Order: sequence, then structure tokens, then C-alpha cells
Amino acid sequence: MLSIVKGIVELVRGMTITGKHLGKHAVTLQYPEEKWPMPERSRGIVVLLSDKETGALNCTACMLCMRACPTAAITIDAPRGEDKKRQLKVFQLDVGICCFCGLCEEACNFSAIKLATKYEFSTENKEDLVWDMHKLQEVGRDVPYEARPKKKPAPKPESQSQPPQTVNPVAAPESESSEDEKKEGEA
Ligand code: SF4
Ligand code: SF4
Repeated sequence: MLSIVKGIVELVRGMTITGKHLGKHAVTLQYPEEKWPMPERSRGIVVLLSDKETGALNCTACMLCMRACPTAAITIDAPRGEDKKRQLKVFQLDVGICCFCGLCEEACNFSAIKLATKYEFSTENKEDLVWDMHKLQEVGRDVPYEARPKKKPAPKPESQSQPPQTVNPVAAPESESSEDEKKEGEA
């Protein structure tokens, strides 16, 4: 008998909670028709950024992002031309092994690479996750960004900025061992 009463109480309690939410707006999102607005600093797909006026890639092929990437997801091929400047031939990113750490964006001094707020890139084919330069640029075309000022190189420590001091053997004080040798000679 007691268990039946308990069951009725729990049922009424549950129905009350359900009733409270009946008139409220549904929290469920009808994905993919509806999407949550992602926070500006969320880390989604890595994209390449283009100049807002000319539309050309901001990338100067300095390769800092490739060196900063902990998973070796970035591959860059940029041989030097006759003018000794690097020509960007290949910029490839393997989204499948990217861990979205943001270190590439952090390393770039030219506002050329960014983790956009976009996040839909699932595919049935693993090879489709390797994105070339043109795809990275196209996906990044509508990504807003602010050109960051170039980072200044850290000042050299004083010991490196001054030329090494040479010791004048004439002016140098005599060492203890040479004094001992002198004393031995006098004896
Ligand atoms: S760090 Fe920036 S400019 Fe340098 S290669 Fe990477 S994306 Fe290009
Ligand atoms: S977000 Fe991290 S793992 Fe992905 S490409 Fe950039 S540095 Fe590499």
C-alpha cells in the first residue's frame, strides 16, 4: 500500500515538472537547419585569410606556422625564386590530424591563418580531409579578421649585443702559478 502511495506522489511530481515546461520555448535545436552562433574565439576549421582589397593570400610563406604545428598537419612548399623571395606553391592542411590548438594562428605575423568559427567538415573519405591552399582560401574568404600588428623581435640580451672582450696578455694580472714559478726560481 505504502509503495503505491509513493508511486502516485512521484508520478504527480513528475507531471508537475513536465507541466511547468509545456508553455516554454523548446531548447532543442533543429540541426542542421538551425545552428548555434559560435563564440568569436571558438576554434573551428583552420582557414587561410586573404587581403580585404586585393583578395590575394596574406601568407608570405615564412613557414612559422608549419614549425609551430605540434601534429605536423601543415605542409608548405615555397622555393625561392630568382628575386630570392619565397613563392608559395603548396600549402596543405590535414584537418584529420589537426588538434585545433591554435598555435599556427599564434605564430603567424601576417594575419594569414585563423581558426574560424566554422565547424562542419565531416566526410566519409579520409582523403577529403586534406585541404589544399585554394580550398583553405575559399573557406576563409568570408571569415572576419583584424590585421594584427607585426610582432617585434625580442631585444638581444646585453651580453650578445656587446662585442666579446679580448684579454690583453700584457695588462693581465699574473696568475698564482706563475708567481709560484718565480719563487721557485729565486730559491
Ligand atoms: S605563419 Fe602565416 S605567413 Fe607564415 S607560412 Fe604560415 S600562414 Fe603563411
Ligand atoms: S590548429 Fe594546431 S594542430 Fe591544427 S594546424 Fe594549427 S598548429 Fe597544427
